[in-house]
Formats: sequence, C-alpha cells, structure tokens
Amino acid sequence: MIYLDNNATTQVAPEVLEAMQPYLSKFFGNPSSAHTLGREMKQAVERAREEVAELLGAADASEIVFTSCGSESDNWAIRGVLAAEPSKRHVITTQVEHEAVRNLCRLLENDGYEVTWLGVSETGELNLEELRSALRPDTALVSTMLANNETGVLFPIEEIGQIVRQRSQALFHVDGVQAVGKIAIDLKRSDVDLFALSGHKLHAPQGVGALYVRNKISLAPFIIGGAQEQRRRAGTLAVPNIVGLGAACRLAQYDNCHDIIEKLRNKLEDGILEQIPNARVNGTRDRAKRLPNTSNISFDYVEGQNILAHLDEAGICVSTGSACHSTTHESSATLRAMNVPYTTAQGSIRFSLGRYNTDADVETTLRLLPEIIEKLAAMSPYIP
Ligand code: PLP
Repeated sequence: MIYLDNNATTQVAPEVLEAMQPYLSKFFGNPSSAHTLGREMKQAVERAREEVAELLGAADASEIVFTSCGSESDNWAIRGVLAAEPSKRHVITTQVEHEAVRNLCRLLENDGYEVTWLGVSETGELNLEELRSALRPDTALVSTMLANNETGVLFPIEEIGQIVRQRSQALFHVDGVQAVGKIAIDLKRSDVDLFALSGHKLHAPQGVGALYVRNKISLAPFIIGGAQEQRRRAGTLAVPNIVGLGAACRLAQYDNCHDIIEKLRNKLEDGILEQIPNARVNGTRDRAKRLPNTSNISFDYVEGQNILAHLDEAGICVSTGSACHSTTHESSATLRAMNVPYTTAQGSIRFSLGRYNTDADVETTLRLLPEIIEKLAAMSPYIP
C-alpha cells in the first residue's frame, strides 16, 4: 500500500509505540493517585508535557493542557474565551477553517454572536487589510488556522498576531493541527494566545490532543469534573496516549525528515503537472507558503471520487481533500472560498506525504496516475 493521506491521519511511529507500551501494561495507575504507581504515571505525563512544550516553543510546560483531539482543543479555545468574556459578542475567523472551527462559529451565530468570516484569494491567502478593518472593541477572539488541511496553504500567524495585539484587546487562537510536526513553530516569540494540536496528525495515536494556553490567559474549562490538569480540563488522563504524543513530539523535533518529505512532494507535484494536461495546483504556487508535504491538485473534467477509487484499487490512498462530500456532492468550502470553479473543485485530489513515503511510492504514483486520468477523462460528461 502507498499511503499519501497523511493529512487525514498518520501511522503510529514505532518509536511512539515503544514509548507507550509500558503504559499499556505494567504502568496502569491513575496519575491522580497518591501512591507510587500513580506518581510514576504523573511523571510520565509531565515528561510528555515538556516534550510538547519544547516542540511548540512554549515558554513553560504548564501552558500545555492535554485533550482528546484537535476538535476538542479548538472547541475549548473558542468557547472558553467567550465564556470568560461574556460582554464581547464578536468573533473573527476565516471561510477556510476546518469544520471544528467553522461549524462551531456557525453555531455561535445562531446563539447571537456576530462572526466576521474573512475571505481568501484565489491562491488561498488572507488579505490582512480585511482583518485590520474587522477588529472592533467588542471582538473577543480571532481564530485562524496555521496550515490549511486541504491545500496546505500557510497563514502568517506572526503578522496576524501582531495586528490583533496592536489593534485590539481580542485573544488570538490558532488551529495548528495540520502544522505541528511539519514546520517549525515558536509560540513564545509570537502573539498567539491559544494553539490547538492533534496527536494523530504527527504519528501519535488517535484520541489525544493538546491546547497551548498562554500563561495568564483566563479560559473557562470545557469539561467539568475533577481537578485534573490544574482544574482546566476534567477527566482521567489518557496516559498511554499522552506518552505517545510526547514521544511523537520528540521525534518531530529531533528526527523530522522534513527535507526528504518536501523533495518527494515536489517530485510528485512536478511530475503530475508535467505529465497530465489540465492538472493544476489549488493553493499558492509559492511552495514556501504551503506545507512541505501537501499538494492539492485538480484534474479538469474528472471526478475526484472516481480518481480516488481507481487509485485505491491500485493500492494508493489519497483523499478528495473534502472536495466532494459523499452525501451532498458540494464542493469543499475551502475551494469555494478560493473561487475554484465547480467542475475543477470536483476533480480535486489531496496528496499528503509523510515520513514513511519513499521515492518508489512517488514513482509508482507517477506511473499509474496519468493512465487513470486519461481513462476517466475519456468517459467524462464534462468535456466541452
Ligand atoms: N483542524 C484541522 C486543520 C484539521 O485538519 C483537523 C483534522 O483533520 C482538525 C482540526 C480536527 O482534529 P481531530 O481529528 O484530532 O479532531
């Protein structure tokens, strides 16, 4: 199998599995327990917190709170800020956020909040002037992603943070789920107040995430119960998963394979564009402004779902980049916001590479894909 769907989820790294194993067998205590076994678990959690903090460039490990996934981290950040500042009823976000932010912000609108939805250009980039003029005295929160899950386009969070800090009293939340482990991050040098990440996007298991909460930020808890995580997030900690997240962060920090992954991605993207007529990249062509592992490519006149199915049959896993939801056949909100025409958006495929891809994976994909596209295009009802 050739796995080119690393933005959906990643394989648990052997190093991560090895670090987790003792905590799935002999170390089974509750980290809140006062006995020796409990204390051992607690120490493991605190080691993992240090490892996450180091990868994010947090000033202090106490700024990291463990959660169950990226969606929880995003939801908590947004709801937590609004609950702590009930008089402020305005939120700014973008039209291309992941559903974890987008659908929550839609819900907030139903609850009487005013949401400003920043648009993007045809290359998927933000216009920071729009942000400047959207900020108001009653803006509680600005929430943007760092890296788009579908196109890999990066938003300039340093500049956004500066604008938010200089022009308002609002807090700045970043959905960093797709960026962590793929590019360098240094939160202590930024104006980011809250930053969400998810373990399964960087070779930790599914079911663990974290939220960075800058020191002194007051955030109402989201899950109410016991006193875990300094009373910020109740619930018995998932120690094996947290240990796995720590190990994954260590791997991403010291052995991240970024250069190799980027070379493979570039070879794949260049090869597709050279060999397949009517193939085009969705998102900026300036690769420095995109994640190094992602290529979202549209193949005119063919359906992404059909390409996916043919690649799947050949043992190659990709995603349609949410371009076509199986139930609605709607184009993805991200591609719509970028003004990608409907038929182009329908033919979009997201290739997302990772640390276990090889040159042979790219070669095989480049050998099989042109034939698949040619075959599907020949049957296409869209060809003018
Ligand atoms: N934010 C972004 C940008 C994502 O890509 C995802 C998952 O794909 C999430 C949030 C949600 O993360 P999780 O699957 O851990 O809930």
